[in-house]
Amino acid sequence: MARAIYPGSFDPITLGHLDIIRRAAKAMDEVIIGILKNSKKTSTFTLEERKSMIEACIQDMPNVSVKFFDGMTVDFARENNAHVIVRGLRAVSDFEYEMQMAQTNHSIDPDMDTIFFTTSLEYAFLSSTIVKEIGFYGKDISRYVPEPVIKMMQEKFRSV
Ligand code: ADP
Repeated sequence: MARAIYPGSFDPITLGHLDIIRRAAKAMDEVIIGILKNSKKTSTFTLEERKSMIEACIQDMPNVSVKFFDGMTVDFARENNAHVIVRGLRAVSDFEYEMQMAQTNHSIDPDMDTIFFTTSLEYAFLSSTIVKEIGFYGKDISRYVPEPVIKMMQEKFRSV
């Protein structure tokens, strides 16, 4: 059973994340998306909001689920009997940090491996931060985030 975790902030989930999730779900038997609870970044969406947005996006992928986690990624993986960590690579700028994290995790737990999926070119520039910037100024975000996220983003920014 090849089970992987896909950790991140997902604040909110973008079409770039979803592209990685779809491809990981094809390559692995099971994928557990892990929303990091103790992120140093301040978040725009609550943990519950992020989880419900992701759940709405993965309904057609029965081997994908979402959980929260705290602490180290390797511990979350181990608790879920996963030996693979999935990450997405957008550009060379992601590489140094991701390589360091993958090596750190492998050093902590030699059974743990990180698999990188390179993003589809159309999403290479996308990040949750960029999408929020575009949404905040009322521009069309439908090319960047999945359908269930559009409404939640509009509501969030209306109340700001
Ligand atoms: P983190 O705070 O851990 O970077 P993110 O939610 O920003 O959390 O990203 C989670 C993972 O998804 C990371 O591996 C990141 O590189 C990847 N990712 C983010 N945006 C994209 C995208 N547009 N295309 C491919 N991968 C992406």
